[in-house]
Amino acid sequence: MNDPRLVISYIHHQIQAGNCNIGEDRIKLDCPVCDDTKKHFYLYLSSFTAHCFRCEAHFNLRGILTFTDLRAFKQNGVQDVAISRKPDVRFDDWDATPICPISNHDPGVNSVACQAYWRCIERGVTSQQIEQYVMSVRPWIPRIYFPVWDDNGTLTYWCSRTLLDEEPRMDSLKDSVRPLYGRHVRRFVDQVILVEGVFDHLVTRQSYAILGASITKSQTAILVQDGIRRVFVIGDVDARTKADRSVHTLVSQGIQAYSIHLSVRGQIPYKDPSDCGRGIMSEVATRLLGMTPTRPQVLHMEVLPATTTTGDGLPVPSV
Ligand SMILES: [Zn+2]
Repeated sequence: MNDPRLVISYIHHQIQAGNCNIGEDRIKLDCPVCDDTKKHFYLYLSSFTAHCFRCEAHFNLRGILTFTDLRAFKQNGVQDVAISRKPDVRFDDWDATPICPISNHDPGVNSVACQAYWRCIERGVTSQQIEQYVMSVRPWIPRIYFPVWDDNGTLTYWCSRTLLDEEPRMDSLKDSVRPLYGRHVRRFVDQVILVEGVFDHLVTRQSYAILGASITKSQTAILVQDGIRRVFVIGDVDARTKADRSVHTLVSQGIQAYSIHLSVRGQIPYKDPSDCGRGIMSEVATRLLGMTPTRPQVLHMEVLPATTTTGDGLPVPSV
């Protein structure tokens, strides 16, 4: 096994299977190169290198693997692991251009790309996310496109949102299976928060969007396959019954699932997590992922009004 990508895939599966020891600055695993069964393979989180102390196999994984999130989760005592990945291929075949803050595209794309960028920033999306998720526009179409790719970097799905107030507000690739949006960028084990929409996902740490009000059978199957043990469903306010139903679906598949009914203190109820903004949702995520809930399956959580709904570095209200 000489290909760093295969090594990463191997590490990913070992971590998912729980076949690793996570230490302060390293993860110990069985070596993928030799017959080691005593976890001589060390993945160093500060240098992004991996080394086997049995067969001396050595890998430099810098630029391919980021463990910022892993370190953050470890500090929080949360055992979930997130691995950021990037698509290997460009999506030239669907004629899309990544959005950007300054107009430097063809006239057909020009203003839309710029408008889309700032719309995302307004909604609390960070510039890093815009790049990471390859948010794009297509010529002469006033919509933001959100591609989803598989482990090979091949486009498998997209959904789009209008930049105007046109119908359909959301659209997606026809005849396609709804994925768990966000899993193509970061894959979680153990526990995850489920939200409805793309923008809800983008402001909610350790989440996937189900891209609708109810979870599908295939989405549930993926969570089971990933080894997800506990799920918190934060539905939009107008679709709580459906969120509660998603919880029942998950529970029937052996996952501990909870429907979270958020309310904003002293305010007219917000519509969805995206309205709460990144600051509040970050606190909500920390509280949820750190708790050990028991029954009932519906948890009420009250939060303070948002002081901001935009990106990083802005005041974070206490919850
Ligand atoms: Zn080895």
